[in-house]
Amino acid sequence: MKRIVVAGAGGFIAGHLVKELIKKGNSVRAIDIKPLNEWYQVSEDADSHVLDLRLRENCFMAVNGCNEVFNLAADMGGMGFIENNKAACMLSVLINTHLLIAARECGIDRFFYASSACVYNSEKQTDTDNPGLKESDAYPALAEDGYGWEKLFSERMCRHFSEDFGLITRIPRFHNVYGPFGTFDGGREKAPAAICRKVIEAGITGDKDIVIWGDGLQTRSFMYIDDCIKGIQDIMYSDINVPINLGSSEMVSINELVDIVENIAGFKLNRKYDLNAPKGVRGRNSDNTLIKKYLGWEPSIPLKDGMKKTYNWIKEQVISEKDKKKSERFNK
Ligand code: NAD
Repeated sequence: MKRIVVAGAGGFIAGHLVKELIKKGNSVRAIDIKPLNEWYQVSEDADSHVLDLRLRENCFMAVNGCNEVFNLAADMGGMGFIENNKAACMLSVLINTHLLIAARECGIDRFFYASSACVYNSEKQTDTDNPGLKESDAYPALAEDGYGWEKLFSERMCRHFSEDFGLITRIPRFHNVYGPFGTFDGGREKAPAAICRKVIEAGITGDKDIVIWGDGLQTRSFMYIDDCIKGIQDIMYSDINVPINLGSSEMVSINELVDIVENIAGFKLNRKYDLNAPKGVRGRNSDNTLIKKYLGWEPSIPLKDGMKKTYNWIKEQVISEKDKKKSERFNK
């Protein structure tokens, strides 16, 4: 049985990862800055702690006595958050830096850092018809301002901890991950969850309009959480010591994503395009040549199937939130 630290465990991806690692018989120390009642998933069998991992001493406390570290902690969100909170995003550098220092000094065997497609050079993402970003497209560097630069810097910090100190590091570049038990409101949500929530709310209120950020033609690919969790473990326990794409290559426009959600909901809405809203790069897709070659990994869950599960989970949350508010009003 390994002792594994999962940082960011109160968040979306790490919450799922904790469950999976426990299922596989590991002992898991789960860490997040948020109070436990705000975690998306709390696993009873995990040793859960609330700690601010920007602080060096907390990283030592988190890592001491463990064999492996998965760092998925970051102050992040969708485009609406990262465009307006660049300094906060860059401060996540403290989390990874202090975790690396603690990992080295505590003799950690393997260290995982969650990077992002936001490291890619934005000049290679100016066309909706993106052929797929290859790992080498991160350089020459022109990453997403703030969030992407922090990811690129932290990738390199991992690389140099490997080269200079022999710490084994593994780095996937996630392309949009979606699924249940993630952010769907509050300003940090990403497009798949935001669109589900807007369609669900329209269904409840009867409002026939939906606001879409940008002109809806911008393209992305989206990876369902179960594929992501498998890919994370495949990469962590592989020999791949360079950053590698972990994403879907099923590219769709935002309009096509809205089509999928409307089909799930069973009704159509009038689309209002907000051209001043944050929209990110014009086109982005994952080139999966390397991961297919090294690991034989490919996403197995088609977008429309994953979106149905996500939609159903968000609908339950929206309805239970509305019921809660109603009963609070009633009890006043
Ligand atoms: P998330 O926001 O749901 O989870 C991140 C967690 O980190 C949050 O629960 C947050 O409270 C925690 N955190 C923030 N600051 C902290 C601190 N100082 N100390 C301890 N915990 C702290 O995000 P996610 O979608 O689960 O993403 C996980 C990782 O994957 C992040 O590093 C993110 O940048 C990366 N990533 C995610 C996506 C995606 O589509 N979800 C895409 C690319 C990269």
